[in-house]
Amino acid sequence: MTILVTGGAGFIGSHATVELLESGYDVVVIDNLVNSDIEAIKRVKELTGIDFPFYQYDLLSYKQLQKLFKTYKFEAVMHFAGLKAVGESIEIPINYYHNNITGTINLCRVMDEYGVNKLVFSSSATVYGNPSTVPIYETFPLSVTNPYGRTKLIIEEFLKDLSASNPKWRVVLLRYFNPIGAHESGRIGEDPKGIPNNLMPYITQVAIGKRDKLKVFGNDYNTHDGTGVRDFIHVVDLVKGHINALNFLEKTIGIEIFNLGTGQGYSVLDLINTFSSVTSIDIPYEIVERRPGDIAICYASPDKAKKILKWEAEKSLRDMCKDSWNWQINNPNGYRS
Ligand code: NAD
Ligand code: UDP
Repeated sequence: MTILVTGGAGFIGSHATVELLESGYDVVVIDNLVNSDIEAIKRVKELTGIDFPFYQYDLLSYKQLQKLFKTYKFEAVMHFAGLKAVGESIEIPINYYHNNITGTINLCRVMDEYGVNKLVFSSSATVYGNPSTVPIYETFPLSVTNPYGRTKLIIEEFLKDLSASNPKWRVVLLRYFNPIGAHESGRIGEDPKGIPNNLMPYITQVAIGKRDKLKVFGNDYNTHDGTGVRDFIHVVDLVKGHINALNFLEKTIGIEIFNLGTGQGYSVLDLINTFSSVTSIDIPYEIVERRPGDIAICYASPDKAKKILKWEAEKSLRDMCKDSWNWQINNPNGYRS
C-alpha cells in the first residue's frame, strides 16, 4: 500500500514518514524544501533503514503532480505541505493563500484525475479562534484571526464541499494542538529557519546559548500563573494518530474531523520549569507584552479521537522536553550542523 506524503521533509511530515515506514507502508515523499532540508529525508532513510522515492516537487506545479500520479498508484495521501508562520502570513498573504489553497486544490484535482480519493489533512486548532470554554470539542464554532488560519479554514470548507460532491471521497481533517518534541533518536526534529516563532524551539535555543533569554508574552492572562496555556503534544504521538486515521479511512465514507491533543493544558511557565527540571538548565526569561492575536487558554478534548480512532497521546511533558533537548543538543544548527 503506497502512501503519498506531501511536505514529508518538514517537522511533522518527516516523523510521519518514519511512522508509516515502520508500520509497513510504502511511501513516496514530495517537498519543495521551501522550509526544510534534504538532510531530513536522508535521516529518515537512515533511521528506518528503508529507501523510498523523494521528489523535490511543488504542489503549485500541476505538471509535476501529474508525472507523479502517472508513475505511482497511491492508496491515500497525507497532506502536510504548507506554509505555517502566522506573522509571515500577515506580511505576505498572497503567498500563503496561493501556496496553501491552490496547492491543496491542485493536489485534489490530480487525485481526482487518477482515482485516488483518501486524504488525511493537517489542520490546526487555530480554526477555533478564541473558544469561549475549554476543553475544545470538534463541534465548537470556528473563527480565525490571521491569513494562515484562514487558509486552514478555507481548505477545511473546500474538503467538506468535495466530500459532499461525491461519496468516493474519504477525508480526515486532523486539528493539531501544539506539537513539540522530536524522534527519540535525536536525528530528526523541528528546524526553524531564523528566529523561532514557537515556544519550544525558542526555549531550546536559549538553553544551548544561541539566544540570550526567552520573552514570555504576557503574565496577566486569566490562567493559574498568568501565562498562556496550551495543549503541548509529542510529535511522535501526533503522527501515530495519522496511522489510526489511515486505518479509519479504510472503513468510512465522507469526512470526519478529529482533535489531536493530549487534553491537558500547561502554561508557558510550566513548560519552562519542566524543561529546566529535565535538563538541569536554567532558562532566563523576561515577561513582556502579550503577543497580538494570542489567546489565554487552548486545550483539546481528545475524546472523539480516542473513541473513534482508538488513539490517545501517551508521552508526558517531560518526554517532550527531553526529546526536544536531545534533538537540539545533537544538532545545534539543525540539519545544517
Ligand atoms: P514544516 O514547515 O516543517 O513542514 C511543511 C513542509 O511543506 C515543509 O517541508 C515545506 O518545505 C513544504 N512545503 C510548503 N509548501 C510546499 C509546496 N507548495 N509544495 C511542496 N512542499 C511544500 O511544518 P510542520 O510543522 O511540519 O507542519 C506540517 C503541517 O501541519 C502544515 O500544514 C502546518 O500548517 C500544519 N500544522 C502545524 C502545526 C505546528 O505547530 N507545527 C500546528 C498545526 C498545524
Ligand atoms: N510564547 C512566548 N514566547 C515565545 C513564543 C511563544 O511566551 O517566544 C507563548 C505564546 O504567547 C503562547 C505559547 O507560548 O502562549 C505558545 O506559543 P506558540 O507560538 O508556540 O504556539 P501557538 O499556541 O501560538 O500556536
